Amino acid sequence: MSDDLQQRLLEEQQDARALTRAFEYAKAFVEYASTRRPYPYETAIGKARGATSHLPQRGQDADSVIDELQEKFSNACVNSIGGRYFGFVTGGVLPVARAARLLSDTWDQNAPLFRTSPAASAVEDICEDWLRTLFGLPPETVAGFVSGSSLAIYCGLAAARWRLLQRQGWDINAKGLAGAPSLRVIAGEQAHATVVKAVTLLGLGTDNIEWVETGRDGRIATDKVPPLDERTMLLLQAGNVNGGAFDDFKILCAKANDAGAWVHVDGAFGLWAAAAKQYAHLTEGMNNAMSWSCDAHKTLNTPYDCGVVFCRDREALNTALHATGSYLEHGADRDGMFFTPELSRRARAFDVWAALSYLGRDGVDNLVSLLCERASQFAQEITEAGFELAAEPSFNQLMFACKSDEETNSVLRAVQEGGECWAAGAEWFGRRVIRISVCSWATTPEDIKRSVDAFKAARAELG
Ligand SMILES: *Cc1c(COP(=O)(O)O)cnc(C)c1O
Repeated sequence: MSDDLQQRLLEEQQDARALTRAFEYAKAFVEYASTRRPYPYETAIGKARGATSHLPQRGQDADSVIDELQEKFSNACVNSIGGRYFGFVTGGVLPVARAARLLSDTWDQNAPLFRTSPAASAVEDICEDWLRTLFGLPPETVAGFVSGSSLAIYCGLAAARWRLLQRQGWDINAKGLAGAPSLRVIAGEQAHATVVKAVTLLGLGTDNIEWVETGRDGRIATDKVPPLDERTMLLLQAGNVNGGAFDDFKILCAKANDAGAWVHVDGAFGLWAAAAKQYAHLTEGMNNAMSWSCDAHKTLNTPYDCGVVFCRDREALNTALHATGSYLEHGADRDGMFFTPELSRRARAFDVWAALSYLGRDGVDNLVSLLCERASQFAQEITEAGFELAAEPSFNQLMFACKSDEETNSVLRAVQEGGECWAAGAEWFGRRVIRISVCSWATTPEDIKRSVDAFKAARAELG
C-alpha cells in the first residue's frame, strides 16, 4: 500500500499537473484582483466554513484536491491585493515578489544554517546589507528574517533584556528572571499591541511598563518621559497603527544614549519612510536606536509572512537567541538561526531580494511615496465630503469620523457590507473612528475616489 502511495507521488511530481492547475487558478485570481470585491460575501464565507465536515478515510487525487481548494476557499478570500482594501495595515503584493515566492517555495529551502541552505544564507546577507543601506542604519547593524513585526519586536527586546542584564552582571540565559536585577520598560500609551505582547512573553510584566502620555496625534510627549537609566528599555514607534504618527527620535534617542538606555523602534510599516526622500525626515535620529523592527509584507508589498529585526548589538541578538546541539554545524558563514528564535524556517529573504531588485532604491522611494500620496488624496476628499479627520494624517494612514459614534459605526458597517471598499474601525481618544491604511501599490486615484463616494453614499442613505 505504501509503495502505491509513493508511486502515485512520483507520477504527480513528474507530470506536475496539480502544480500547473494551481498556477492557472492563481493567475485567474490575480487577473481579477482589481475588480473583485475587497471583502468576500457572507455566502462564500459560509461555504468555506462548512467545507470539510470530516477527515476523509480515503484521500483523492491531487487534481481534485486543487479543484476543491479553489472551489471552496478562493471566493472566501479577502482581496487585499486589489486597490480598495484599507483594513488594518495590510500590504498588497508586487507581481515580482509573488513570482519569486512561488519559485522559492518550490525550492523549499530550510534557513537555520549555512549548511542547510547556502543559498538562503547568501540571500539573507545580501538583504541585510541592502536594507541597512536603505534605512540608513549603522554599519554594524545585523538583521534576522522572521514571520513579521510581532516576532521582530520580540527579538529586539530579547536582545535588550540580555544586554541590560549582562551589564549588571546577570546572565539571563543561565539564571533566568527569578532574582534578576529589575529592568524598566517605558512605552508610549499608543504602543502597538504586539509591543505589549513581547513585554509579556519576555517576563517583564505589563504592570511594570511606565506609560508615557501621547499627544492627540499619537506621538510621545517628549517632556513627559521619566528619567532614563542603564536599566531601561525605551519603546518607540515609527508609524502608529491608526494615525501613522512617528515619535521624536531625535530628542528621545539622544536622551536614551546619554543615559545608557536601550531604544527599540517598532517601525512595522513606517521604517520605510527612511527610504523615501520626501518622508525620511519623519525618521530623523532613528539611527541612534539600538534595535528596530519592520515588515516586508506591509509597505514593501512582499507576500505574507515576512518581517525583519535589526540590531546594532550583534552579540546581544545572537546570544539572546542562541541554541546549541552537536548536530548543528556552524562555520564562518551566516547561520540564520542566530538571528531569529526559530530553528527550521522558510527562506523569506528571497521575496525581499526580488522586491528590492525589481524596485531599486528609486522604486522603493516611489512605492512609499505612492502610498502616502494616495492617503493624502483620501484625506483631502473625505474632508471635502464633510467627514472629520480625527488627527492630522501621517504617512499612509488616516482616521476620520462622522458627527456621532453611532453614525460612524453605521456608516462603516454599511460600507463594509456594500463591498465597494473595506476599512476597519478603531477608538481614538474616546471616539469611534474609521481608519484607512493605504498599503498596496495597486490603489489608484480612481480607487480612492470610488471609496470616498462609497462613504458619502452610505451616509446619505442612513441620513
Ligand atoms: C502590523 C504592526 C505590528 C505587528 O506586525 P505583524 O507583522 O502583524 O506581526 C506592530 N506594530 C505596528 C505599528 C504595526 O502596524
